[in-house]
Amino acid sequence: MTFSRARTWQQLMKLSPLCSGSLHEQYLPCGKAKCCCHDKDEPKPHGPYYLWVRRIGGKQVNRTLKPGAELERVRQGISNYRKMQELMGELLTQEEGLVLEGGRASVGESKKNFKKRLQRR
Ligand SMILES: [Zn+2]
Repeated sequence: MTFSRARTWQQLMKLSPLCSGSLHEQYLPCGKAKCCCHDKDEPKPHGPYYLWVRRIGGKQVNRTLKPGAELERVRQGISNYRKMQELMGELLTQEEGLVLEGGRASVGESKKNFKKRLQRR
């Protein structure tokens, strides 16, 4: 397999819109006691509503979206984000392979120590 750095970056540049997080389809009851969504035998909750859940600076941020252009952009964005992560992973593997061209990665260091070292930065 030949590694084309330029091609991968070109693919990355096309990934727009970009959205992190995930979309959740929801069906919910409303506040009206006599509505069909509260039927004892066959409750029919309203929906679908879409909840977009993502993390910003360690905090979970929820956003409710109605079916429409906005929802479709978020859906596309999340799909693009996944592609981006795949491509970035590929790039990283290739680049790390180049970095270690002369030798081999040290396997002596445990994961625990590695984590500690990262936190100290
Ligand atoms: Zn209802």
